Amino acid sequence: MILPLAEARARVDGLRALFDPCRLCPRLCGVRRLAGETGFCRARARLRVASWAVHRGEEPCISGTRGSGTIFASHCTLQCCFCQNFPFSQLGHGQDMEPGELAERMLDLAARGVHNINLVTPTPQAPLLLDAYVEARARGLTLPLVYNTSGYESLEVLRRLEGLVDIYLPDLKYADDAVAGELSAVRDYVAHDRAAIVEMARQVGPLQVDAEGIATRGMIIRHLVVPGGLQGTRASFEWLREALGTEVQISLMCQYFPAWRAPERPGLDRRLTDEEYLEAIATVEELGFTNVLAQDPTEVGGA
Ligand code: SF4
Repeated sequence: MILPLAEARARVDGLRALFDPCRLCPRLCGVRRLAGETGFCRARARLRVASWAVHRGEEPCISGTRGSGTIFASHCTLQCCFCQNFPFSQLGHGQDMEPGELAERMLDLAARGVHNINLVTPTPQAPLLLDAYVEARARGLTLPLVYNTSGYESLEVLRRLEGLVDIYLPDLKYADDAVAGELSAVRDYVAHDRAAIVEMARQVGPLQVDAEGIATRGMIIRHLVVPGGLQGTRASFEWLREALGTEVQISLMCQYFPAWRAPERPGLDRRLTDEEYLEAIATVEELGFTNVLAQDPTEVGGA
């Protein structure tokens, strides 16, 4: 966070203004969350968190040697039929708490030596999670903030995050809204995701790492390869090359497995083949991308 505390608190107040009626994501449900109403994501007014832990399975520059202080928030603005986090993203499992309690947990994670605080699927609860982070900063936290998102974001929210977020970790999930609708129950993913990625790049610039190779600022774009090539690698990366050039940091992920509703979906009811993953890598390399993180298929366990 590069903002002074007073300004950071003002930004969080600005985010809170989008909370009720809720327009924290492009769905713009407009529900009165403070009155107990829920929208598409089913998030309520109270902060709900599924887990807080040292996570060693993120990209090497995020997990480093001491892990990432990962906060898995409950609820999500998408409904991916293959979601590996469905108990809390779709079913809402988690624990209600006050932002001050989460701030304490962030400080506990920092005391365990993590490299960053990593908010996973923060959007439906962004004001509450950022409130916790700013509170932890006020109590001495100095770690960078990672905003780990599906990429389905509104510019109105992102602009309020400028200066609060150090590292953006957005997905570039799909290149086709029909596929996004079928797999993730979202009709307008592509335009919102692309506009969000461009805005994130404007805010934080290219990935920066310290002397130990740990990310301190910037953006890593994640692209999960799914069976049958439904993720649209070529079209997505042709767009990205045009929008941001070929030096942007990319993370190509092969950890797909048929979780949640995927076993009921023909074509999605199997693991990825090595050929499918290698084809995606070859495509981004052919398009000229130079900063590509790839996973070892034998080492991923579906984190
Ligand atoms: S965050 Fe949830 S309630 Fe708010 S607009 Fe998005 S889906 Fe609707």
